[in-house]
Amino acid sequence: MISEQTRKRLKNQSEILRTIRRKGATSRSFISSSCGIRKASVTNICRDLVDRGSLNEKTPGFYRSEIELSSEYWRSLAIFIGPGEIIATIVDHNGKVYEEWTQKMGNPKSPESIVSVIVALINKASKLKKSIVGIGISVPGIINAEKGICLSAVNLGRWHDFPLVEEITKRLPEGSPRIVIENDANAELMGNHWFGGYGETLENSLYISLGEGIGCAQLLEGNIVRGRRFAAGEIGCLPSGNEKRPCSCGKMDCLQTYCGELGIIQSVKSQNKEIAHHSIAQICQLAKKNLGIRQQLIEAYQPLVQQISTMIALTDPAQIVVGCPDPKMDSIIPEILSTGLKNLLSWTDKEGIPVLAGLNPIKSGILGAAVSVFKNAFQDEAHI
Ligand SMILES: [Zn+2]
Repeated sequence: MISEQTRKRLKNQSEILRTIRRKGATSRSFISSSCGIRKASVTNICRDLVDRGSLNEKTPGFYRSEIELSSEYWRSLAIFIGPGEIIATIVDHNGKVYEEWTQKMGNPKSPESIVSVIVALINKASKLKKSIVGIGISVPGIINAEKGICLSAVNLGRWHDFPLVEEITKRLPEGSPRIVIENDANAELMGNHWFGGYGETLENSLYISLGEGIGCAQLLEGNIVRGRRFAAGEIGCLPSGNEKRPCSCGKMDCLQTYCGELGIIQSVKSQNKEIAHHSIAQICQLAKKNLGIRQQLIEAYQPLVQQISTMIALTDPAQIVVGCPDPKMDSIIPEILSTGLKNLLSWTDKEGIPVLAGLNPIKSGILGAAVSVFKNAFQDEAHI
């Protein structure tokens, strides 16, 4: 049990580190005024952080020197469990990637096989003997991040209440860096928030990830909305049609069977027998010039637009970020969703809600896994 004094100091340290992360190199007096923390406390805390190597003074030993996060110190091993492979990278607090390892995955993706691939990747990374503040893992499933448990992961097979963090930790040497896990859509949104180039404007945003399935996450005042059962944003298996399309969850007609990669291709092809293309990116290319195909794409995405419109009506986010797996989709999908939403949400102003193209979901997922490590470490005694 930590004392009240320690708890308060940790809160201040976390606030100071978050401010320096957002602002970049800055002075102690700016931190004091922007965080509302007394100058003496800021000085005291920053001295400890500099001594531990977590902060750098731009002019060492000079009190008025600007201070910044040390990119030598703030590095994380970020792991992304994708549909066909697991990727591990070393990422710093600026989103710079230093090393990358990839391991292909066969089927079925049992929890045990994923654990052994992850352990192998961590062991590879640890051979570099570079210090990291923690290990972050983006998991395509419903996650209890606090307990490190994967409650379910329909697109990986039948996972139930799997203690992922514990199973990995017990296969690693004692004293290995702490592991945090995050739901993939949450990680992707955090990656976009810190590194997507939209800055703090994403503090109240809704994120939609388009891939084999449909991911969704939400930031409210800068905090990820998790929900009582950690299932906030699980829209992929909402009922959405009546064509009897089978879903990997065992049910029929889930949203992802219509608006996931294969679902969209199936919908467009059913309306247009001439389409021989096998990816949404190729169809998007055609839709740029061909209004008929564009209209078919708009109709194919209608089930998703319907579901998003309900979420918008409930929470009224400032903007929507869409993560597309191919850059060819970036110029057309956000616009299709934006137009569809404008038609459904009659209360929005003339411009409607901005729909922005986010980073590629693999990229943002990796970066977001690192963000979850940094966010945890900012308020963890071991690192400050
Ligand atoms: Zn389903």
